[in-house]
Amino acid sequence: MTIQERVQLRSFNTLGLTSVAEFFVRATSSEGVLEALQVARAKNLCVRAIGGGSNVILPPELSGLTLNVALKGRTIVSQSSQEAIVRVYAGEDWHEAVVWAHELGLYGLENLALIPGSVGAAPVQNIGAYGAEVAERIARLQVIHRRTSEVLWLANSACDFAYRDSFFKSNEGREWIITAVELRLSKLPITNITYPALIEAVGSRQVAPNEVMNAVIKIRRSKLPDPQVEPNAGSFFKNPVVTQEEANQLKEQYPKLPQYPLDGGRVKLSAAWMIDALNWRGQSEQGVFVSEKHALVIVNRSAKKSHQVIEFASKVSRSVSERFGVQLHVEPEQVAGNEY
Ligand SMILES: Cc1cc2nc3c(=O)[nH]c(=O)nc-3n(C[C@H](O)[C@H](O)[C@H](O)COP(=O)(O)OP(=O)(O)OC[C@H]3O[C@@H](n4cnc5c(N)ncnc54)[C@H](O)[C@@H]3O)c2cc1C
Repeated sequence: MTIQERVQLRSFNTLGLTSVAEFFVRATSSEGVLEALQVARAKNLCVRAIGGGSNVILPPELSGLTLNVALKGRTIVSQSSQEAIVRVYAGEDWHEAVVWAHELGLYGLENLALIPGSVGAAPVQNIGAYGAEVAERIARLQVIHRRTSEVLWLANSACDFAYRDSFFKSNEGREWIITAVELRLSKLPITNITYPALIEAVGSRQVAPNEVMNAVIKIRRSKLPDPQVEPNAGSFFKNPVVTQEEANQLKEQYPKLPQYPLDGGRVKLSAAWMIDALNWRGQSEQGVFVSEKHALVIVNRSAKKSHQVIEFASKVSRSVSERFGVQLHVEPEQVAGNEY
């Protein structure tokens, strides 16, 4: 294990921002993580985990130790005639893990195909797409406490999963580094075709899981800019959730604004629709654009520093708030330069 100093993280974040880590280490085993934590304690450094950097807005200077969680391995740990539990280590690529499981005849992850990033980060924001969330499949997680080095398995019920949220986003949860994820998958060819775009793509007939996965991949490729070509962090804003009363008022003024009822009487609104209604698509400032392909995606063509992206995004969200009276929240994590 080598701890490097002043490492440029431009290739470690899909927005392609310039960010220099004070210290950086790539850990490929639990022992590597534990060793890195020990060094960090000895040097009194804060520790920040990073996977593929597809959901972060990195500051120009990142103090402390940036720990790239790169443990590899995928295996079936138990199975019955109906289902299997697979263990995937945190540094595996999420999409590759989805394809691996699917090719073994283990189903349930197809709707989550092609989401960028690492397996270890997937539970952090409870990744979701096309009517599915990873929380539905998580059995338990292996975690290491970054200050005490305690190693634990956490059950799904301990992770407080919610829409793009989990225990790991709380102050207490941020203390834990995820090193492995166990997923409960079905041996029966189950599918989840509830999301409108997916219904449109595959129709209402009975389809096999591979048709769902192929449809998801095709839709994603057509709708989302590829971060390798156009640096971005996926959806830049979360879809806002409002009360039924607020939703009713908006419905009167904007009958076409898509609304999705949630449990508990709240309503999710389409942020993309509101941004589109304000004609932001294709507009730019300081080398930062609202994607031509998808109004929720902010593309960085030439900005170097996080503030350029944040300032532009703030203009977009301010205009939505002024017109619709709805507050947009940024989805990727705005990482602080100095955490402690
Ligand atoms: C083009 C594009 C499309 C996307 N589409 C979707 C989508 O459909 N649905 C969706 O939900 N998301 C989507 N995202 C967001 C992103 O892919 C997910 O959030 C992904 O899980 C991030 O993985 P990562 O490894 O890149 O995490 P990073 O960006 O490296 O980290 C994200 C957060 O997780 C923490 N973290 C990372 N690894 C660990 C670990 N091992 N233990 C503890 N904490 C950790 C980091 O500290 C940070 O807080 C998209 C992003 C892009 C660029």
